[in-house]
Amino acid sequence: MHFDKSKLVQKLFETRDLSDEELRFLIENNESDERLFALSDKKRREIYGDEVYLRGLIEFTNICKNDCLYCGIRRSNKNITRYRMSSQQILKCCELGHALGYRTFVLQGGEDSFYTDDIICEIVGSVKSAYPDCAVTLSIGEKSRESYQRYYNAGAERYLLRHETASPGHYARLHPSEMSIENRKRCLFDLKEIGFQVGAGFMVGSPYQSTENIIDDLRFLQQLRPEMIGIGPFISHKDTPFSGFENGTLELTLRLLAILRLCFPFALIPSTTALGTVDPKGREKGLRAGANVIMPNLSPTEVRDKYMLYDNKICTGDNAEECRGCLERRVKAAGYSIVTSKGDARKEE
Ligand code: SAM
Repeated sequence: MHFDKSKLVQKLFETRDLSDEELRFLIENNESDERLFALSDKKRREIYGDEVYLRGLIEFTNICKNDCLYCGIRRSNKNITRYRMSSQQILKCCELGHALGYRTFVLQGGEDSFYTDDIICEIVGSVKSAYPDCAVTLSIGEKSRESYQRYYNAGAERYLLRHETASPGHYARLHPSEMSIENRKRCLFDLKEIGFQVGAGFMVGSPYQSTENIIDDLRFLQQLRPEMIGIGPFISHKDTPFSGFENGTLELTLRLLAILRLCFPFALIPSTTALGTVDPKGREKGLRAGANVIMPNLSPTEVRDKYMLYDNKICTGDNAEECRGCLERRVKAAGYSIVTSKGDARKEE
């Protein structure tokens, strides 16, 4: 079916939704996306102005019990040096991050059973008591509802857990059989009910992904209504079963960022490191397409190159101060300004 692209974009701007047919056309159409980007930028400025929020990312362990086929830190990869950081090391990163103006710390890692619920709660509690003006975001995978409740009670207020793909058949091609989209969704709804600000999302151009899968992702996000949505291109990793697959493209990722901004005007949407990896100006382009969050790396430089989710990941050599300065320049050059606040999602009146 053929549609007038600029009319579709206008309709999405006004109504925040399109039919499956219309979405398919918009996702697959390769004509200029300038109008789409102009309207997504307009929408983002209506709600968030030119503000870009920073999240200091601490990748505190690369040990993982899972074996996701796309991921460089999957348990079967014997070709990496594993590490885990102590509570003291994590707190040191927060100290540095706080001095650099970060007011959100994202603790991300593989699913590493060394960090029991007691340990996670102790870490969250120490970060919150040292920096009561900061938000703590966890991104440590699938847990029981009881565990999530404990993290929340300890002071964590946000949780990132990409759903990866909402289509069960596609999910099964990206993950080993012991993982399921049902459990992933259960986690996301539990987190939401407990009161976390929740982030879901998916990789763009992951192996076997079809337009239908992407439409399923958008429909799932409409059902979940997450405060944060993280998408970035799939990038192959040489020591995974997906080493021979093509990377996701800059073009499709930017188009989807703009579509997400128009469907979810209030969402916090990062311009990801993966986007900066597929294109040297990828993160700036992501901001102009509708993203409003950047997640600079706060992990100590000695561990950076060990958290290799995919090949050629950028920012593995720079220290935290250098990352901060570099991002400040990039955000300014893209026409936006960095804000050093907790940066909660705005709520619709
Ligand atoms: N274990 C936690 C989880 O599962 O949510 C957090 C860490 S996990 C490595 C963080 C994210 O990295 C995943 O949600 C996935 O989308 C992304 N990722 C992993 N491998 C990737 C790849 N090859 N290309 C792009 N993104 C990738």
